[in-house]
Amino acid sequence: MARYGMVIDLRTCVGCQACSAACATENQTPYWSDKWRTRVLDIEKGEYPNTGRHFVPTICMHCEEPACLTICPSQATIRDENGSILVNYDTCLGCKACMAACPYGARYVYDKNDVAKNLEIHGELSQHNVVHIDKCTFCFDRVERGLEPACVATCPAKARIFGDLDDPNSEVAKLVAAGIAKPLRPDLNTKPKVFYIY
Ligand code: SF4
Ligand code: SF4
Repeated sequence: MARYGMVIDLRTCVGCQACSAACATENQTPYWSDKWRTRVLDIEKGEYPNTGRHFVPTICMHCEEPACLTICPSQATIRDENGSILVNYDTCLGCKACMAACPYGARYVYDKNDVAKNLEIHGELSQHNVVHIDKCTFCFDRVERGLEPACVATCPAKARIFGDLDDPNSEVAKLVAAGIAKPLRPDLNTKPKVFYIY
């Protein structure tokens, strides 16, 4: 089994939002409600005239010690055999405990209006037929078919790299081992498997 992780290179991200759009299309996420599994923050730093803009793609970190998993009262939040954190839509109570526990703000409510809109758009191909708490899945169904997550495959700047952290020959493992890619806010103690180069 793999231990999937992602590296996001903030030096090359151009803030084009292609990853957000690709994810919304692939995963039928409710863009109409401004809810996203991956969102690109646009941060301005410094004081005029010495200012700069930084684009920071955010995503579920698929933590090794996920606060969202241990707090879920219905075991709807699960870890799959490749270490990715998933949600069982059918057993999710929508109680929002995971949302409160996640220190990265990675989750949102797929509410009844979103379900209705999704059914209207996608009909019998709808992936979201019930109210639940939603978040990134590392596109596990694409990865099962030998594809990269949609955000990785779409990024024109190749700012996202996906792979097996346990494979010493993978690019993600090499970047992490060399200390080039680092987690955001390691002090939150959830051991993210998404790393950033900045
Ligand atoms: S980022 Fe949040 S939702 Fe994702 S695994 Fe970590 S604690 Fe859970
Ligand atoms: S697609 Fe790539 S370059 Fe564009 S915003 Fe997303 S991570 Fe950045």
